[in-house]
Amino acid sequence: MPRILVTNDDGVRSPGLRALAEALVPLGDVTVVAPASETSAIGHALTLQRPLRLDDLGERWYAVDGTPTDCVNIAIVHVLGGPPDLIVSGINLGLNLGDDVTYSGTVSAALEGALFGVPAVAVSVDGGRGDWHFGPAAGAARRVARQVLARGLPRRTLLNVNVPRGEPDGFRVTIQGDRQHGTIVTREMDPRGRPYYWLGMSDDHWIPDRRSDVQAIRDGFVSVTPLHSDMTAHAAVDVVEELSRKF
Ligand code: MN
Repeated sequence: MPRILVTNDDGVRSPGLRALAEALVPLGDVTVVAPASETSAIGHALTLQRPLRLDDLGERWYAVDGTPTDCVNIAIVHVLGGPPDLIVSGINLGLNLGDDVTYSGTVSAALEGALFGVPAVAVSVDGGRGDWHFGPAAGAARRVARQVLARGLPRRTLLNVNVPRGEPDGFRVTIQGDRQHGTIVTREMDPRGRPYYWLGMSDDHWIPDRRSDVQAIRDGFVSVTPLHSDMTAHAAVDVVEELSRKF
């Protein structure tokens, strides 16, 4: 049986994690190693300044008081005793589209898998105001995982899977969407009269592109975006070569 590592960034108690683990049971031996508490938007962070604890919750479920990337490392070295055949991260409560992948702990756990040479998939689902339905996302995760286990993925590549609300119309291979970057930072006063700041989500102003992940979600399709750990702007190398003559 293939060995499948499941993790997330919403924390070990997230219903999305359980839905994902259960969906993958028919495909292999599933081990869950997930953050003890929510670490959304923690990106690809590693915890290096303090020790980490691994809590055995039974039935091959473990919690780590760290980040998703910590979980993948501890799982490979101390839980599984080597790389698994597949890493699946999610099901995240909320989409990970466009540039949000750079903040996402969900996507970063899969990225860590790709760095280890392990085929890896991140799965996120759209939801309303707290009404989460994992059935279609769990089904999509299983279908993608089955093919990735059978065929593998290109080197240093992971799949970022986003699932729309309701029953999807099918799968669409997409590119990372492009959004005008904005920010909302609220400033308030604490009870002692000192200001504090709270970061919020800014509005969605997507640059239209029929191939994009956000367009697939808007059209009711499961979006499957191949991402790469190589962040080199290959198309810009010639431009920078030209620039470098003036360095
Ligand atoms: Mn999350």
